[in-house]
Amino acid sequence: MLGLGVGYAAEPWDRALESETQPFGAKCSVNPLVAQTATADAGSLGSSGPAPAADQAPLFSSVADTLVALPLAAPFPQIHPQARLGRVPVLMYHDVLPRKEVFFDVTPAEFEAHLQAIQENGLTPISLDQLVAHLATGAPLPPKPVLLTFDDGYLGHYEYVYPLLKKYGYPGVFSIYTGKVERDYGRPGLTWAQLREMAADPLVAIASHSITHPKNLADLDDQELRWEVTTSKRILEEKLGVSVKHFVYPEGNYDERVKAAVRQAGYRSALTMSNQVDRFANESDDLLSIARLGQSKLSMAIAQSDGGAPLPPLGSAFNFTAPVRKRQLELDGVSLVLFAGGRPVTLHADSRYQVSEIIANTPAVAAVDGGFFSMKYLDSNVMIGPVYSQNTGQFVPGSAWDISKIGGRPLVLVGPDRAEFVPFDPQQHNTLARLRKLMPDVTDAFVAGAWLVKDGKGRSPASFRDLFGFDVPRHRAFWGIDQAGQPVVGVSKERIDSVALGELLSRAGLREVVMLDSGASASLAHGEELLVDYTPRPVPHVVALFPPIESEMAQSCEFPIAKVAAGCNGRDRCLDALTAFVPGVQPPNQASVRR
Ligand SMILES: [Zn+2]
Repeated sequence: MLGLGVGYAAEPWDRALESETQPFGAKCSVNPLVAQTATADAGSLGSSGPAPAADQAPLFSSVADTLVALPLAAPFPQIHPQARLGRVPVLMYHDVLPRKEVFFDVTPAEFEAHLQAIQENGLTPISLDQLVAHLATGAPLPPKPVLLTFDDGYLGHYEYVYPLLKKYGYPGVFSIYTGKVERDYGRPGLTWAQLREMAADPLVAIASHSITHPKNLADLDDQELRWEVTTSKRILEEKLGVSVKHFVYPEGNYDERVKAAVRQAGYRSALTMSNQVDRFANESDDLLSIARLGQSKLSMAIAQSDGGAPLPPLGSAFNFTAPVRKRQLELDGVSLVLFAGGRPVTLHADSRYQVSEIIANTPAVAAVDGGFFSMKYLDSNVMIGPVYSQNTGQFVPGSAWDISKIGGRPLVLVGPDRAEFVPFDPQQHNTLARLRKLMPDVTDAFVAGAWLVKDGKGRSPASFRDLFGFDVPRHRAFWGIDQAGQPVVGVSKERIDSVALGELLSRAGLREVVMLDSGASASLAHGEELLVDYTPRPVPHVVALFPPIESEMAQSCEFPIAKVAAGCNGRDRCLDALTAFVPGVQPPNQASVRR
């Protein structure tokens, strides 16, 4: 058997190796979050930026961790990459009145039923300031947030909506075009007195919706545009005695010139809408074009609402200490099921099994099928390329024939607190000593199919080179690291080609993603449950997410492998805990470990 005696190295890592190379120091010291901080500071102090730092303080005070969130703000009006991990629905209502006249009217009873559904499903209505702070910094919101907005200043907003918001204690945004106040264009508008009463309530935010509600602000000349955007803000602020920080585009229409005028006027955000595409706020282009959903999309909002991921420890690009949680996404009609968080561990079984069988006796919360395996044998665990897994502790090199064909594919390296993906070099990367040059404390390694996302961006068709079937719609399995530094495993529930999948995963906030053995092998298990709608081909190798380890447990375990064992609190128990992990795999020889 190959690789015996190499794994479970009892000695500290080879000092010679450590000193002659600087494996990941240079690479890891570039923390994308820190880099952004510098840009953010420069941006927010620039003369064109409408939100100087001092002015932003009240905005962020509503977010849980002010000290962490504030320095991490992306340059205005960008959305922080980490905010792509959230999915905040911004619901848009128009009139609320007892007798409906058009399809988007809502009765007071229907509106209260919405509030009840929001409450019963555990959603937390947030303010627009909270949403903007979340989008600018990536700091997480409550687990299932929602923002309620009401357009056009109807009397029904005062008579029905405002009292119900107070009853439930829910914040709301009312967008007002000043030309309608005190007027009755077929439907009565709000009065200044009613607006003053509402604006004085901390639950209510007043947004400007222009002066005359033109169909498309982009059709106006510069002077008219400035009047609609800037003068409306001044009128509202003077009449209501509150600061008006947000704009809502009439009919959702804008272009770059309109956005520039809104920015110039000093707004911190602008809301839009589209009748064609349903997008959550986190998918918006920037803070000056925040997407909304029609109120008829309430059930979609409830199903997918997500407050985002915890921030990684300050100064780190990885976070292997967050709890594992499920993310269920629907993007452009494609359903994706992801698990994010915890700590990545690969398991190499002695033969082929369902992913759920391989993780059955392990602490894994979820797992996806892993690297490509040799189809030459009917029933074996032979992989294509080198493989090194925590459960065996054995490094198995790839066969010379196989590895000559997979140069340039992503070599996955996992360590206790980070993962790296580097182009596989058949000459350089087929021994454990060589892998330790890349990552001295490597615990797991294998070769994946291709990058789907690199540096937060989807990949071009050319990047897949000659990878078989990359452009064919298939069920696809993948794993990687998200913008919060958490490990992620997942599958596409629909068939999709690799390029389109990379685009979606980039939009979903993933930073680095590689494709695993896809098509018939694509499989995702959550405990005993398989989350695909077919019976996948059995596989010998999985990427699993184990729960994060308690720090005291980590300290008491001497070996990387032992750290994954649940409940391990001493060397012998660490080793014992491994014995039942994976079908057919013997625990490490304790004598060799203790040599
Ligand atoms: Zn409107």
